[in-house]
Amino acid sequence: MKKTALIALVALAFAFTIQGCAPKPKPLAVPRTQPLWFGLHVLIENKPAAEALLTELPALAKTGLNLLIFEADYNYEYVSHPELRGDDPISRETVKKVVTVCRDLKIRLIPEFQSLGHQSWAEKTYALLIKYPEFDETPGQFPGNKDIYCRSWCPLHPDLNPIIFALYDELIEVFEADALHVGMDEVFLIGSEFCSRCKGKDPAELFAKSVNDCYQHLVKERGVEMLIWGDRFLDGAATGYGEWEGSMNKTHPAIDLVPKDIIICDWHYERMKSYPSIPLFLSKGFRVLPTSFRDAKQTKKLIDFSLAFPSERMLGHLCTIWHAPEAGKTAKWPALLAAAKKLRKIKP
Ligand SMILES: [Zn+2]
Repeated sequence: MKKTALIALVALAFAFTIQGCAPKPKPLAVPRTQPLWFGLHVLIENKPAAEALLTELPALAKTGLNLLIFEADYNYEYVSHPELRGDDPISRETVKKVVTVCRDLKIRLIPEFQSLGHQSWAEKTYALLIKYPEFDETPGQFPGNKDIYCRSWCPLHPDLNPIIFALYDELIEVFEADALHVGMDEVFLIGSEFCSRCKGKDPAELFAKSVNDCYQHLVKERGVEMLIWGDRFLDGAATGYGEWEGSMNKTHPAIDLVPKDIIICDWHYERMKSYPSIPLFLSKGFRVLPTSFRDAKQTKKLIDFSLAFPSERMLGHLCTIWHAPEAGKTAKWPALLAAAKKLRKIKP
């Protein structure tokens, strides 16, 4: 590393002890030795979505895509806990087809399992809290999921982790994966007054415990990498991100309570003058994968901002579509094409 780049990194380390303090990014000063990651996150809730993905993968590879985050959640034919399968789960055979096609196209395939939060969507509660209502952070509360965003599981329930980790293990095995994305974005129900174990406890410590339990299992015991959405680590007020892209429910001090070899998928979907989370996560020692959604201009802005930071820990870029893949359409997603064009210019 050049001396100037080293000085810049040290400066960042001092500058970002306080969240929200954002310097102007400087041009990339260090030649990259690793190819940039260019990823797409897809939500696969049933067999038709998996089939559409299979059809679309060759076209996606042509854009330069080299990473696919396959959010499976409860939508796989789990053997260890068949009671937790979703309504139309994806078969082992279908996953194996995805594994083979991704390998042939040189696309790294990483499964995702939404953990802690996002245990329901609208009126539908997912399998875990239906089959094991005792794991609910707000048991018996909010009938029909009225007045809440999503349910959470309780990070302190002593019987939870063995069940969830069995599902993680199945995903790692069937996807032949060297990493797992644990989700954990937009967790609003944490440390609830309705949970006898968590009531009154520090939300940051509860969130960090959940992260650290996953880390212990995935990284320490299974030897795979761990990815996570970054929003709960960010002070929503100080950074200006607010309560979605940042945290207004006191989870953000968890950033200093978790291992730094976790990969942070730092998602931002709004156009902002700067993205202070990028240098913040880098200064803390994390690897960062900035993530965008449907606004092509914002996608380009986030890529320009993030790749200006001279660090090999700035991994590249992740696009999201937040609906099922569509044959003939997904590889033409405007934000994906915008990211492809930008990254093509930077790739070594
Ligand atoms: Zn609890």
